[in-house]
Amino acid sequence: MQKKIATLMVGLALAGGLAHAASNEDATQRYFAGLLAGAEPKRAELTLFMTMMPKGGDLHHHYSGALYAEQYLEWVDKQNYCVDKASYQIVHHVPSGSCLSGAAVMLDNTTLTALLQRWSDKDFHNHGALQSPPDRQFFDTFAYFNDVAATNAHDGLARLKQRAIQENLGYIETIYQLSPMQPDDGFDQQARAGLSDAAMEAFMAKLDQDAGFKQGIASYIGDLKAASAGIDDAQFSMRYQGFVLRFLSPSLVFSSMVSSFEMAMQSPQIVGVNIVGQESVAVSMQDYAMQMRMFKFLKTKYPQVNLALHAGELALGTVPPEGLTFHIRDAIDVAGAKRIGHGIDIAHETGALAIMKEMRDKDIAVEINLTSNAFILGIEGQNHPVTLYRKYGVPFVIATDDAGVSRNNLSEEYVLFASRYKPDYAEVKKLSYNSVKYSFLSKDDKQRMLKSLDVKFATFEAEIAKSNVVTLKH
Ligand SMILES: [Zn+2]
Repeated sequence: MQKKIATLMVGLALAGGLAHAASNEDATQRYFAGLLAGAEPKRAELTLFMTMMPKGGDLHHHYSGALYAEQYLEWVDKQNYCVDKASYQIVHHVPSGSCLSGAAVMLDNTTLTALLQRWSDKDFHNHGALQSPPDRQFFDTFAYFNDVAATNAHDGLARLKQRAIQENLGYIETIYQLSPMQPDDGFDQQARAGLSDAAMEAFMAKLDQDAGFKQGIASYIGDLKAASAGIDDAQFSMRYQGFVLRFLSPSLVFSSMVSSFEMAMQSPQIVGVNIVGQESVAVSMQDYAMQMRMFKFLKTKYPQVNLALHAGELALGTVPPEGLTFHIRDAIDVAGAKRIGHGIDIAHETGALAIMKEMRDKDIAVEINLTSNAFILGIEGQNHPVTLYRKYGVPFVIATDDAGVSRNNLSEEYVLFASRYKPDYAEVKKLSYNSVKYSFLSKDDKQRMLKSLDVKFATFEAEIAKSNVVTLKH
């Protein structure tokens, strides 16, 4: 009898707990709706809300672009380099004369301001800032800090983890470093004349016999293992994608694809392959269809390797209109991408409705990067295709792209999404879960992370509900 009463009491307590959780969720939903009601969203309160809110993962994240310039200046000093005051380039010798230490740059406001205008997008829209075209400004930043990014990967990953925890983010899938590659004139000529499976097969066999190429693969995996030691724990995980630069020669692109696939097979930390770099430049446009065929070929060799491809990061006017008609479709139908990065040109693609239906049916998610798209392409507000993806039920996630270059963070991307598109709380919560669901984590890791997200949301909603009761009393 006593046991029955005890069971009943536990049951009631559980039911009470669930009811409490449901009422906390309702209270959070009401509070959130209040932040977006009225002519102007309550931006500061939204920022607090989104900073506190558990965010599952950041799935469109570039390692070197995620670090802020201030970090790179620290590493300039660590490596005994200096920054040339005229060119703002890192020079490989000790500071002297007009070549300053990182610390000296930090202390000289005028130089620091000028450097940040080159190493990031900071001040671009301010009066008096540099005025190169925004896409050039954005993509040019990487050349300034690449020198110290790879050599300090362990510190860099630790900093990114610390920042993620600070904004209640549990997972990052970072596009890590350029995969090993090997030039080959013969393959370049064959590819330019018309790429065949036989040519790819032969080049692959050649790479397989290339000790240097294989050593590059082993080093990449070994270096990553060392750099990522201690990053994963109960609160936070990081996984990695190898990547290919889309504006390089066919042999460099294909060989870096081969190494990317091979590394994803060999290392459990490397969970996918990406293709990056400015999509609107001549080589990227000219070779796009061929590169998707290369992916298709390699997918038949390595069917279990996941692809997340930057595709359709193009706006009307960046290239002739016919260039806007097929990139997302080819990334899905030819290359076999499981996720699409950006997907901006969808409204211009041939058969856009069918592509979106296919994405919905096959559960292919789009990584939405609002700050980056507004800056590089000028696409924002009601002109951003996230409006289409929402309307047609295509799954998507909110991501940062290059938080160090844009000088933003993931919470701010959620603030932008909420303030622009006025979703309800359920949608925003779903986006946080989506960023785990559509990650390339293993099935077990995904389950673990989803469970942890449940707990984090219960805590968050209780906190929001409680702080609102206090607010109402005042
Ligand atoms: Zn990107």
